[in-house]
Amino acid sequence: MTIEKKMEAAFNEQINKEYYSEYLYLAMKTRFAQMGLAGFVNWFDIQVKEERAHAEGMYEYVLERGGDVELFAIDKPEIQGTTPVEIFRQVLEHEQYVTSRINAVYDVAEEVKDRAAMLFLNWYVKEQVEEESSVGDVLSRLEMIGDDKQGLLALDKELATRVFNPPVIG
Ligand code: MG
Repeated sequence: MTIEKKMEAAFNEQINKEYYSEYLYLAMKTRFAQMGLAGFVNWFDIQVKEERAHAEGMYEYVLERGGDVELFAIDKPEIQGTTPVEIFRQVLEHEQYVTSRINAVYDVAEEVKDRAAMLFLNWYVKEQVEEESSVGDVLSRLEMIGDDKQGLLALDKELATRVFNPPVIG
């Protein structure tokens, strides 16, 4: 069954959002590099790679379904705030927004009764639960740390140990 135009459009829009996420996290990684927090840089570097994988997963899926991939311009990322805690508040808000967009793509799949797309999207629905949870963990740690420099350095050391596991999508 060839993909419906409306479904294809929803995927293309979401591909753009995933590339935007990659871009936003790349911009945030730069900020942390400038702060000299190598563990946070590692954490964002992995986010960048994950977002790229999320975009590519949908890209491959649209092609596999005989659809057309349309690439849109990627917005310039705007970072609100300057401190680690302010930046992580934005990360959490952004992931909550992405969750709402994934749900909207799922809504289209339900509307056009595209069961294959729903099964494919289940992976993204689950992934968003993990994203919000892992970002929420870092944010609560930062809120507890407050102005404690030692606490911040300890968290930075911990984030340096995060390892990138290429996601197996679908
Ligand atoms: Mg993503």
